[in-house]
Amino acid sequence: MKIKCPHCGFEGDSSEFMYLYEATLYLVDSMVEREERVRPVLVICPKCKQGFFLENPYERFYQASGLSSSSGK
Ligand SMILES: [Zn+2]
Repeated sequence: MKIKCPHCGFEGDSSEFMYLYEATLYLVDSMVEREERVRPVLVICPKCKQGFFLENPYERFYQASGLSSSSGK
């Protein structure tokens, strides 16, 4: 899978990029609670070190499953 950086135009394999899973912690009554919401993965460019989000990485899976299921068994 090829990924292209929108900031500097660097294009490389997905393994060349770094990924940052952002998580927000809430402090409630001295107890840390994890946020339940799922956040998109931030991709860090190895060249310019800037972060960006991939455009809906799950959409193609939905499309692929929809096509395969419509054809029947
Ligand atoms: Zn870049």
